[in-house]
Amino acid sequence: SELIPADAGRAYELDRRHVFHSWSAQAKIDPMVVTKAAGSYLWDGEGNRLLDFTSQLVFTNLGHQHPRIVAAIQEQAASLCTIAPSHVNSARSEAARLITSHTPGGLDRIFFTNGGADANEHAIRMARLHTGRHKVLSTYRSYHGGTSLAINVTGDPRRWPNDTGTSGTVHFFGPFLYRSAFAATTEDEECTRALEHLQSVIELEGPDTIAAIVLESIPGTAGIMVPPPGYLRGVRDLCDRHGILYIADEVMSGFGRSGRWFAVEHDQVVPDLLTFAKGVNSGYVPLGGVAISEGVCATFAERPYPGGLTYSGHPLACAAAVATIRTMEDDRVVEHAAELGRTVFGPGLRELADRHEWIGDVRGTGAFWAVELVGDRTTREPLAPYGASSPVMDAILAACRRRGLLPFANFNRIHVVPPLTITPAEAKAGLSILDQSLAGVSMNNA
Ligand code: PLP
Repeated sequence: SELIPADAGRAYELDRRHVFHSWSAQAKIDPMVVTKAAGSYLWDGEGNRLLDFTSQLVFTNLGHQHPRIVAAIQEQAASLCTIAPSHVNSARSEAARLITSHTPGGLDRIFFTNGGADANEHAIRMARLHTGRHKVLSTYRSYHGGTSLAINVTGDPRRWPNDTGTSGTVHFFGPFLYRSAFAATTEDEECTRALEHLQSVIELEGPDTIAAIVLESIPGTAGIMVPPPGYLRGVRDLCDRHGILYIADEVMSGFGRSGRWFAVEHDQVVPDLLTFAKGVNSGYVPLGGVAISEGVCATFAERPYPGGLTYSGHPLACAAAVATIRTMEDDRVVEHAAELGRTVFGPGLRELADRHEWIGDVRGTGAFWAVELVGDRTTREPLAPYGASSPVMDAILAACRRRGLLPFANFNRIHVVPPLTITPAEAKAGLSILDQSLAGVSMNNA
């Protein structure tokens, strides 16, 4: 481009001088320059090709530079780049229709946002107005976004420095057998005890004060803990019993990541509100939203909904969503993700666990997997403390990079979250790099 210099060195220099980075101590980071990306690969500033096992922040579900999404954005840009949200635009209308054709029963109307955090903020606002109650329950080991309320609802260390003011948020433990909060030894036990615990929290907090339970259908960044069968249904029952709304956060787990369009489908659950972002348009243009049940929608039939955004349903973002969803349908992308989980990632990662002592747990579904690294399999001592990294984790990640794999890591875990369009051969090549990298690093690196 004549406007944007392609030179990687110059880009890095300008970034370090003028760009303020998320979640970072500005003087302590050394961000990677990306000069090019295509399909499951990207290229760094030195021209090295990296297999993208991250989908960036788990959003490029159809990979980089997908021709159908790029063309849709170009066509939309040529006809109508932008318009105020009060006007009808066909990209938004069609995106809403396509999204609601895949959301679980009855979630038939979409409020569009710019991303996941504001989707959760609006879902909670709707729940509070609908129920006339204030409190919100959410789990430890969760992430719901970086804005004020979304970060209060979050249950990971990013909340700690941001937990100011009275947000009415109460945290509880979700099911996580590997590090059970309930001394459970089976999935069944974990499920029953986690639901009993939630029932107690509801009773002790006062059921009539609770507007909503916000729950990632499969907690993502916090560790890809697939809930035991029956847990989400149990949450639905508790919500029904106490007049609480169920908000399913499908920002990361939605749009095929788990091998279903939405992860609530694994437990045949219909929430009252479902939030999404990321995979809805592979993150090509910022977009999120709330899928709303008829009951909640009815609350705002005669009474105005007190909320909005300048870019709600932005035509470029919605055109990208239309192309993404149609491509997912035409190319059977969700089925492909499910198949990858069954035939490549599940067996492949369990095989790695057989070979590497410090893999304590492998869990996941579809193209959504976590490998939990521990210093000792018996004590399950994490290879990095909660909320931090460690020299040995850093060494494993650097080894992956040197061999041409971009890994996703969080504390002591490596997440395997590539584009849903990755081929079995590419996926196996990535697992093989992970295997070599684990073999090449010893405790002495720590
Ligand atoms: N909810 C979940 C489950 C997420 O994983 C994320 C982002 O990672 C968010 C919400 C926040 O989305 P955004 O960063 O688009 O605001």
